[in-house]
Amino acid sequence: MNLIFLGKQGVGKGTYASRLAERYKWPKISAGDLLREEIAKKSPMGREIESVINSGHLVKPEQISALIEKRIQEADCKNGFIFDGYPRSMEQVRLLEGMQKKLGMKIDLVVNFTASDKVLLERLTGRRTCRKCAAIYHIKNIPPKVPGICDKCGGELYQRDDDTEAAIRVRWEEYDRQTKPLIDYYEKKGMLAEIDASDEVDKIMPRVLEIIEKRMK
Ligand SMILES: [Zn+2]
Repeated sequence: MNLIFLGKQGVGKGTYASRLAERYKWPKISAGDLLREEIAKKSPMGREIESVINSGHLVKPEQISALIEKRIQEADCKNGFIFDGYPRSMEQVRLLEGMQKKLGMKIDLVVNFTASDKVLLERLTGRRTCRKCAAIYHIKNIPPKVPGICDKCGGELYQRDDDTEAAIRVRWEEYDRQTKPLIDYYEKKGMLAEIDASDEVDKIMPRVLEIIEKRMK
C-alpha cells in the first residue's frame, strides 16, 4: 500500500503514520526528514539545499521530488510506504505523477486528517519548551511537575513564537492555499478518505486501520 497522509500541523498525521509504519512495516517518509538527512550527509545536493535554506528561500520542488524518488526505490519501500505531509502543492503532485509513471508505481489512497481549529489551537498553543534543554511539554497533556519549570533540568519553560495563535494561523492560511487544490484533485479521482482526528489517537486509530484495510482488499 502506498499512502499519502495530509493534514494541518497538530492534527497528528505523523503519529498515525508512525503507528502504521510499525504495524505494516511501511516506512514513513517525510520530505522534511529527507532534506535534513541529505544536509547531514553533506552530499553535493545536501550542500546546495542547505545554502538555499540558509538564504531564506524555499527548496525547489524538483529537488524534493528527486529525494523522494530515490527514497521510494529503497528495499524497505517494496511493500508500501506512507508519505507524511507530501505532496504539498499541485506542482509537487505533478512531479509525483511523473515519478509514478516512470517507476510504474501508484498511490493507493490519500488520507486527509482534519480537526476543528479549536482543537488544533488547544494542542498547539499549549506547548511549552525548556529554554535550557529544549524539552517539550504541554500545559494540559504533558504538564511539568511544577508549572513553568522543566522536570529534567529545572530550566524555564516558555511558549515559542511559532506556537502562538497568530503564528499558527499564518501557517494554516499558507497550508490551505497550497493544499486545498490538491485535496480537491484527489477527491475527484476517488482517491481521498477523510478522517476527523479531533479525538485522542487511541480512539482514532481503529478508524484509520478500518479505512486502510478496506482499501487493501
Ligand atoms: Zn530542561
